[in-house]
Amino acid sequence: MKKFGLGALAVFVVLLGILFIRMSLFSSKQVKVDPAPEIRIDAKKAVQNFSRAIQFKTISHQDHAKVDKNEFLAMHQFLKEAFPRVHETLKKETVSDLTLFYTWKGSDDSLKPALLMGHLDVVPVEPGTEANWTQPPFSGKIADGFIWGRGTLDIKSGVMGVLEAVEYLLAKGFKPRRTVYLAFSHDEEIGGKNGNGKIAEMLAARGTKLEFVLDEGGFITDGIISGIKNKAALVGVAEKGYLTLELTVTAEGGHSSMPPRETAVGILCSGIAKIEQNQFPFEIKAPAKWMFDTLGPEMPFGNKIALANLWLLEGLVKSQLTKSLSMAAMLHTTIAPTMLQGSIKENVLASKAVGIVNFRLAPGDTCDSVTEHVKKSINDSRVQIKPLQADNPSQISDRSSLGYKNIEKTIRQVFPDTYVAPYLVMGATDSRHYANVTDSIFRFSPSINKPEDIARLHGTNERMSTANYEQLIKFYIQLIQNADAK
Ligand SMILES: [Zn+2]
Repeated sequence: MKKFGLGALAVFVVLLGILFIRMSLFSSKQVKVDPAPEIRIDAKKAVQNFSRAIQFKTISHQDHAKVDKNEFLAMHQFLKEAFPRVHETLKKETVSDLTLFYTWKGSDDSLKPALLMGHLDVVPVEPGTEANWTQPPFSGKIADGFIWGRGTLDIKSGVMGVLEAVEYLLAKGFKPRRTVYLAFSHDEEIGGKNGNGKIAEMLAARGTKLEFVLDEGGFITDGIISGIKNKAALVGVAEKGYLTLELTVTAEGGHSSMPPRETAVGILCSGIAKIEQNQFPFEIKAPAKWMFDTLGPEMPFGNKIALANLWLLEGLVKSQLTKSLSMAAMLHTTIAPTMLQGSIKENVLASKAVGIVNFRLAPGDTCDSVTEHVKKSINDSRVQIKPLQADNPSQISDRSSLGYKNIEKTIRQVFPDTYVAPYLVMGATDSRHYANVTDSIFRFSPSINKPEDIARLHGTNERMSTANYEQLIKFYIQLIQNADAK
């Protein structure tokens, strides 16, 4: 007995030793850089330009006929006036009438071009919520240290910030060696087929390969990631896939006073419940694993020792992480039943019941494998399954590529004390259109968001602080120069 006790103690001590050794090797991965040289921009003018840009009601609608083209054309005209050097020096091409594509030709053709993305369109303001805005949504009002309005975060800040940066660099006489493309589309919020979809086709037809693409997606978190005191910039190196399945059950209709034992609605709902009961497993793998490997060393003792020792503590870490819905979503393919349709009247049996389930696919899953999982879970041939929209997860871009290294370095230069980590984007971005012209697609905009700011995206009281906007411009000025390196 005594012998056994000693043996257990020895194992425990050895184990503890391993945990601590691994933790001590789990050191910071944040790159050390010199701060960016001082960049003096005309901040007042830039903020006024940004405010003007918000005032164009460039709203995209699923129904193309509802889009007010004149608002887009007026914004094009405004950009021409606000950025004269850009329009003198860069080549501008208009794609599908409303998307703008600029080429800033570099002097060295051996360097592959970089492409910076943004979109001119914004989502509508939900009817009935207008009065909840502190400032009217299309006022572009500058008040209380913020620029207010639809598009400040998503993502006219990106469009205007990039143009301010190029205008600034042109004024300074900067001539890039690497060609820089700017793509500002008009239909990102409705799938982007006619904007970036067409530009990507055009580049492929020209035989162009890109060094990297930078789109929106990740951002700078402030107090969002538990255990991280500093700000943390999340650079999307991949994005989840998107699958919508329509489930249909047909049956005899009729009067609800004499129903069969099983109805179309009952069979459908039981099928949906079975899908929910058969969740996809949580897995800590790339790129989520990269994120924890990168941020873990910056965390307090408890988190750090656990993340350094996933070989032993993965179960514990997962159970902690998945308490947060956003973390849970990063670790598996999610299942969200969103719509249901039965009969047209309370006392009429449905002859057809339809349910819609939306899935966001983690890397490693495919639309086919998820559909197969759903079929097996339901295991009822009366439920017909049809895909409505299907996009597989993106490839995972390389963290050691020139594109990622440039973005990482620029963030550390312009936002000192901000950690940088790779990240999996939960939503879908327009950058997926460029998968055939580059392997290096990154999703990040330098906007700083606190937990309460997340709801402003596509929601009420969207705004960006003027201080953040100035830094955002400096980020693009520095990035374009850093990207010019071989
Ligand atoms: Zn957007």
